Amino acid sequence: MSRVYNFSAGPAVLPEEVLKEAAAEMLDYNGSGMSVMEMSHRSKSYQEIIETAEADIRELMGIPDNYKVLFLQGGASQQFAMIPMNLMKNKEADYIITGQWAKKAAAEAEKYGKVNRVASSADKTFSYIPDCSDLPISENADYVYICENNTIYGTKYKTLPNTKGKTLVADVSSCFLSEPVDVSKYGVIYGGVQKNIGPAGVVIVIIREDLIREDVLPGTPTMLTYKTHADANSLYNTPPAYGIYICGKVFKWLKKQGGLSAMKEKNEKKAKILYDYLDESKLFKGTVVKEDRSLMNVPFVTGNEELDAKFVKEAKEAGFENLKGHRTVGGMRASIYNAMPIEGVEALVAFMRKFEKENL
Ligand SMILES: *Cc1c(COP(=O)(O)O)cnc(C)c1O
Repeated sequence: MSRVYNFSAGPAVLPEEVLKEAAAEMLDYNGSGMSVMEMSHRSKSYQEIIETAEADIRELMGIPDNYKVLFLQGGASQQFAMIPMNLMKNKEADYIITGQWAKKAAAEAEKYGKVNRVASSADKTFSYIPDCSDLPISENADYVYICENNTIYGTKYKTLPNTKGKTLVADVSSCFLSEPVDVSKYGVIYGGVQKNIGPAGVVIVIIREDLIREDVLPGTPTMLTYKTHADANSLYNTPPAYGIYICGKVFKWLKKQGGLSAMKEKNEKKAKILYDYLDESKLFKGTVVKEDRSLMNVPFVTGNEELDAKFVKEAKEAGFENLKGHRTVGGMRASIYNAMPIEGVEALVAFMRKFEKENL
């Protein structure tokens, strides 16, 4: 068996320890004589898995008691509709456009109400986060929406926008559990887990209780109503049971690593190795303004498309997978999520140095 260094933006690298544990439990989970995949979601064994997972993410993030944690399906993209359907009481919301994912979320919300795009960094290909200290927040806005870490462009909010008292809704898919957060500053935090937590198919929604309402937009399907899932503790119907089980293992792994403060320290250390090199390199350069750089997704270019392609090809041959940039941006992107070991980043930089020497 040989494992590569996988720099994919998502689905992405998971802790090897977690994969090994899951493999060991595949045929017989904890003496049950069956795999978690084969188990009733109403069984005592499964009840324990989902309850422990919830307790552990609550502990990791310090989630206050007046927030629900929901394990849902449909990926992050389903939330683009679920959020306006459930939260648009005044049928109006403010969106800050910092990339493709925020753009898509805004376009979807527009099906349900008025969307005000109160700030955008589209003018410079989303290479920065706009100043959000004094935005023209709409009086009627039911919420202000952000994509906190922009997976494709590699930017991250270092301070949250001033929402002037309005509810903040954040897509944290690609920075979930990468550093401590103050949950109380948000109305809704959600993310697809396939970037930093587990297998695709699960989306975790952390939502303040007063935002879970019965009077959702007319026609909202039962399955797309937060209240349905909140009332049933995410067991209204069959949940993505195996995926949640893996998420639970990753939560345990994160606790063992020392929790989110320790993760932040490790993530900063890893990102610094790569950014420091990009700043000194004569061949490669980062594409994002320094202040807004993501700790998770690091896009870079040589400025020459042929050379970019050569780099991606040679990197792959050397065991560094999925370094090609997003199809809309080109160049390269290294995603260095929680589970990417520091050795992976060091090895990548060593490879880049060698490539620079040979190609400059
Ligand atoms: C990947 C990603 C999405 C889309 O996730 P799906 O689960 O594929 O719908 C949305 N937002 C962000 C920030 C992402 O990184």
